[in-house]
Amino acid sequence: MQTDFIIVGQGIAGTMLSWFLLQEGKSVQVFDVEKPNSSSRVAAGIMNPVSGRKFELAWMYDTFYPFAADTYRQMEQKLGISCFTERDILHIWPSEQMRDAFEKRRNTAPQKEYFKPAPLTTDNLFHQPLGTAMVKGATLDLRTLLPAWRNHLKQLGCLHEEEVDVMQLAMDGDCLKYKDITASYVIFCEGAAIAHNYYLNEIQFLLNKGEALLVKVPGLGNEHIVKKSISLVPQGNDLYWAGSNFQWDYEDELPGEAQRKSLEASLDELLKVPYTVEGHLAAIRPSTKNRRPAVGLHPTVPQLGVFNGLGTKGCSLAPYLGHLFAQNLVKEVPMLPETDIKRYFNAP
Ligand SMILES: Cc1cc2nc3c(=O)[nH]c(=O)nc-3n(C[C@H](O)[C@H](O)[C@H](O)COP(=O)(O)OP(=O)(O)OC[C@H]3O[C@@H](n4cnc5c(N)ncnc54)[C@H](O)[C@@H]3O)c2cc1C
Repeated sequence: MQTDFIIVGQGIAGTMLSWFLLQEGKSVQVFDVEKPNSSSRVAAGIMNPVSGRKFELAWMYDTFYPFAADTYRQMEQKLGISCFTERDILHIWPSEQMRDAFEKRRNTAPQKEYFKPAPLTTDNLFHQPLGTAMVKGATLDLRTLLPAWRNHLKQLGCLHEEEVDVMQLAMDGDCLKYKDITASYVIFCEGAAIAHNYYLNEIQFLLNKGEALLVKVPGLGNEHIVKKSISLVPQGNDLYWAGSNFQWDYEDELPGEAQRKSLEASLDELLKVPYTVEGHLAAIRPSTKNRRPAVGLHPTVPQLGVFNGLGTKGCSLAPYLGHLFAQNLVKEVPMLPETDIKRYFNAP
């Protein structure tokens, strides 16, 4: 079989790249093992305009967010699903420093476009002695989008539910061959598994583990994202995603008892109403050392490429960067220099 692109991985990165390459009329073959604890399958899907302790506007958010919203709405239409929701983020201040930092930004452009007055009616639900603020955000329901796109790829006959063994890749003239498929390009969208990729070990990834709980909070009836020391994200039917945290030293990818206790302690500090824990999730985030994604073709094996390093913001970054990469691959449109993997290879 001959194809334009083999894509390895169908998390949010592989999903976006295959979506845009198919729109360009290219043929793709997508391989994915559907690892249940991959980052995209565990994530809350929050899109948040302000980040960090200083409430800076997230990197290129004014460009990334509208593009992401448009893309997800187009995918909803095409796939007949609902997965993208504009949602306010109710910030409940965990400290006076955070509240003061926010107040300093309240009237500063460009962030102020995303700030709204806070509602007054949450005092009965949440511990909020230092007050609240409201920010415009959104969520992407990855647990709906990814299976729907997977199913679409299956119907097109271009999904392979198996693990790619990179050591079986071989040159075939100007192309790469994997088993019986000859491809012009092989693009790795494998999330944290990139750490074991023989061809891409120059790229300096800084992986970290995050954990979250799924909790039932009967009658909370809250449709906002609520953020204090953890975030509470509505999943429907009184179920909420509650997380997460950052672990830089970890022994495995599994949920741990100590983290569960710590997440429960954060929930106790947030909620005035009872909850029950229904599930515990953990995954490894694929981040890079300079916190910018890693996108592009290998400088010395240009049939090999990578779309990875989406860190904590896969849902806001993947549509724009996936589109740009597809445009680069098909029409040689220039990439964003700060995401180009050439930075790791000392190449011009
Ligand atoms: C706890 C937690 C919470 C998060 N919350 C948010 C959030 O609210 N908002 C947000 O934007 N981001 C969030 N993130 C980050 C987000 O999950 C990542 O940015 C994003 O999911 C990375 O997507 P990816 O496609 O690069 O990798 P992945 O999601 O890891 O996907 C890689 C895929 O490749 C497959 N694969 C790997 N190797 C192979 C192989 N050799 N052969 C075949 N298949 C293979 C895997 O099975 C997987 O399906 C969170 C992350 C964590 C851990």
